[in-house]
Amino acid sequence: MTTLTKTEDAPAPTGPESFLSVRDLRVQFSTEDGIVKAVDGLSFDIERGKTLGIVGESGSGKSVTNLTILGLHNPRTTTVDGEIVLDGQELVTATDKELEKLRGNKMAMIFQDPLTAMSPYYTVGRQLSEPYMKHMGASKKEAKDRAVQMLEKVGIPQPKVRFDDYPHQFSGGMRQRAMIAMALMCDPELLIADEPTTALDVTVQAQILDLLKDLQQEFGSAIIFITHDLGVIANMADDLLVMYAGRAVERGSVKEVLGTPQHPYTWGLLSSMPRLDGDIDTPLTPIPGTPPSLLNPPSGCRFNPRCAHTDKVAGGLCTSTRPPLADGRAAACHLTAEQKQAVFIDEIKPRLR
Ligand code: ADP
Ligand code: MG
Repeated sequence: MTTLTKTEDAPAPTGPESFLSVRDLRVQFSTEDGIVKAVDGLSFDIERGKTLGIVGESGSGKSVTNLTILGLHNPRTTTVDGEIVLDGQELVTATDKELEKLRGNKMAMIFQDPLTAMSPYYTVGRQLSEPYMKHMGASKKEAKDRAVQMLEKVGIPQPKVRFDDYPHQFSGGMRQRAMIAMALMCDPELLIADEPTTALDVTVQAQILDLLKDLQQEFGSAIIFITHDLGVIANMADDLLVMYAGRAVERGSVKEVLGTPQHPYTWGLLSSMPRLDGDIDTPLTPIPGTPPSLLNPPSGCRFNPRCAHTDKVAGGLCTSTRPPLADGRAAACHLTAEQKQAVFIDEIKPRLR
């Protein structure tokens, strides 16, 4: 079988400078009710070959951020500010044509819901092979061979036969796997996986995660992995970004953020999620309150109405001033480093254990 290699002239993976750099990203939607400030000054970086996990409650802006990177937003109702630079190319100002060329080839996304990515009117095989022919200059036969191989890799039985099925002839779990195959067809250098395995059983999930790791090993791809599953994060990601109400509140290596979390929201999130070690004796504590409306978010720190620690901060800073997120390992919180450490050791750690 012919295996097409990725564009021969692609530069070799370089040193630790970032492959994707997002700077001060702001995404706002005009709606009948007003302006939804869905992403508000978000910055992060990913190097080639690395995986960035993103966690945060539903509505925190994870999907919007990643759809914006791919340029999949409605320009008539969406305002995007800031910078998104992928391998030297600025994406916020890129044309539709440029973005289209990058999508499916240089960058691809695995969506939460396969029906958003697949058309009901074309066979699964056609949807896998056409972009491959277009982006890689492959023949029909080469593209079919590749598609069948990918369907097999994601665990679709009788892939040659299923190649000619329409998406509705697949079960939900099979559709999810077919969409993952579709995203991996062109060996994307940036892969965005938005809760990709949530609907799949544990065995298939493990296969898919292995497949993503293989892709990364072989092509040095960067992966953004959005999930609620801390076990998956611990297993897959190098770095972790915690998002709350459209902002990054904490960042660091997975080990740092899960081992010694520094932001009150991260404390709440970890206390409310099942333990990594499967300990079911420690009760889960939900974070009190609900995420704010993004039409009219709280001033200062957006987490302040739900935070148990604002009384430790003098001068009403929590409600007046946005806490900055420093570079590298950081938490955007007005508590001093000593206070964070003390609260973590005295109050949080015993609850997580
Ligand atoms: P999640 O972190 O769960 O992926 P999203 O990124 O999907 O959250 O959504 C972030 C916020 O933006 C939510 O409040 C959502 O309701 C809002 N939002 C997303 N898309 C649109 C849109 N097209 N128009 C208006 N509001 C939107
Ligand atoms: Mg989402």
